[in-house]
Amino acid sequence: MDTQFDVIIAGGGMVGATLAAALGHSSLRIALIESSEPDAFTPEQPHDLRVSAVSIASQRMFEAIGAWEAMRKMRACPYRQMLVWDGEKGGQTLFDSGELYQPVLGHIIENRVIQLAVVEVAKRLDNITWLSPERVEHLEQHDSTVSVRLISGTQLQARVLVGADGANSSVRRLSDIGIDKHPYDQHALVATVETALPQQDITWQRYVPSGPQAFLPLSGQHGSLVWYHTPDTVAELEALSDDALRDAIVDAFPERLGEIVAVQNRGSFPLIKSHAHCYLAGRVVLIGDAAHTIHPQAGQGVNLGLMDAAQLAEQLLQQHSQGRDIGHHAALRRYERARRGYNQLMISSMDAFYYAFRESSPPLQLARSLALTAADRIMPVKRFTMAYAMGLSGDLPQLAQGKLPT
Ligand SMILES: Cc1cc2nc3c(=O)[nH]c(=O)nc-3n(C[C@H](O)[C@H](O)[C@H](O)COP(=O)(O)OP(=O)(O)OC[C@H]3O[C@@H](n4cnc5c(N)ncnc54)[C@H](O)[C@@H]3O)c2cc1C
Repeated sequence: MDTQFDVIIAGGGMVGATLAAALGHSSLRIALIESSEPDAFTPEQPHDLRVSAVSIASQRMFEAIGAWEAMRKMRACPYRQMLVWDGEKGGQTLFDSGELYQPVLGHIIENRVIQLAVVEVAKRLDNITWLSPERVEHLEQHDSTVSVRLISGTQLQARVLVGADGANSSVRRLSDIGIDKHPYDQHALVATVETALPQQDITWQRYVPSGPQAFLPLSGQHGSLVWYHTPDTVAELEALSDDALRDAIVDAFPERLGEIVAVQNRGSFPLIKSHAHCYLAGRVVLIGDAAHTIHPQAGQGVNLGLMDAAQLAEQLLQQHSQGRDIGHHAALRRYERARRGYNQLMISSMDAFYYAFRESSPPLQLARSLALTAADRIMPVKRFTMAYAMGLSGDLPQLAQGKLPT
């Protein structure tokens, strides 16, 4: 096996595999290292517990790398509307894709389906070497290269090492990149349910003092429910029998959910905001959850990570096409400058939502209800918010415009 590469990507999850596929259409030689091979898909399989709201910008990236059709054919549920309301005072905003002249606002897709489709593309490209199950165990930086030792003992060298290995990134730790971490006093209970009512073209979220309650549509009459609550309550809910959990959901969730035919799957997640002190150290660069995690209430985590991948791909390919060192500090810094501020803004916005909706003082309750009503009625504000959430505003990297970077 060749051990010399231009780029080594540690982590073949949704973000790392997308970066590999975006770079794989060039002449760069890439190694993609993933610690666990994803299970194959069959249509009879129950829905994966972990799902993502995929923005239009992310959809365009998947189209550009050639993964979108495979995802759609496996399982993806488009939604046209998004309703957000205050459960106490009743103010609400309804976002409709028609207001932005788009057919949909986004798609809800299982994480495993996204990963499988993108990894399939990466595996088909001749210049990508897929190494799984493998993990980076040790790394060493030199003047013009970085070498890594994998858990199997294999040694690899490249001009750039990308850490796309998730929130507990080994690459970040081995590179001594510090991180600010703040756990929220809230966990998320996620349950896949079958509902009596069809409600497949809308995603909704109600805010109550204990935390948001959300419905994300899945194929068939299925949905993914996210119930944010204190860590203790989430642990109690998770331990209930299927029937007891179904009753608890029907009692607590808004009436519009209707009857639940069955609870098919459940799990819980701690919620942590984190931001790496910097995105690079020498020839090592971080993307996705390895660099930042945010409160998932607006479903933006993986969309931010994919935007990192798009921006980094563009930067690396620009250097490469000009015959320059792809690991040159100035080039990697351009990536960091383009992404870090934007990601920080998103982390802070989710923080502001978290605290604003937890506060139960009457004046604040009234203010946030009025804000939701105003956001619904003032069309320029509404369009701006929608475009932001769909990843259609600002200076987009080529991949997010649906073009392979050159
Ligand atoms: C409850 C909840 C709901 C969410 N909902 C949404 C949503 O609706 N929309 C959204 O955009 N985001 C959502 N997110 C966030 C989203 O899941 C993450 O942002 C996303 O998974 C990050 O992708 P990633 O590829 O960066 O990291 P990961 O998905 O963590 O992938 C990292 C990959 O690296 C591999 N790996 C780990 N260590 C190593 C190693 N040492 N060597 C090699 N490989 C390694 C892992 O096996 C994995 O495949 C949600 C998060 C939570 C907790």
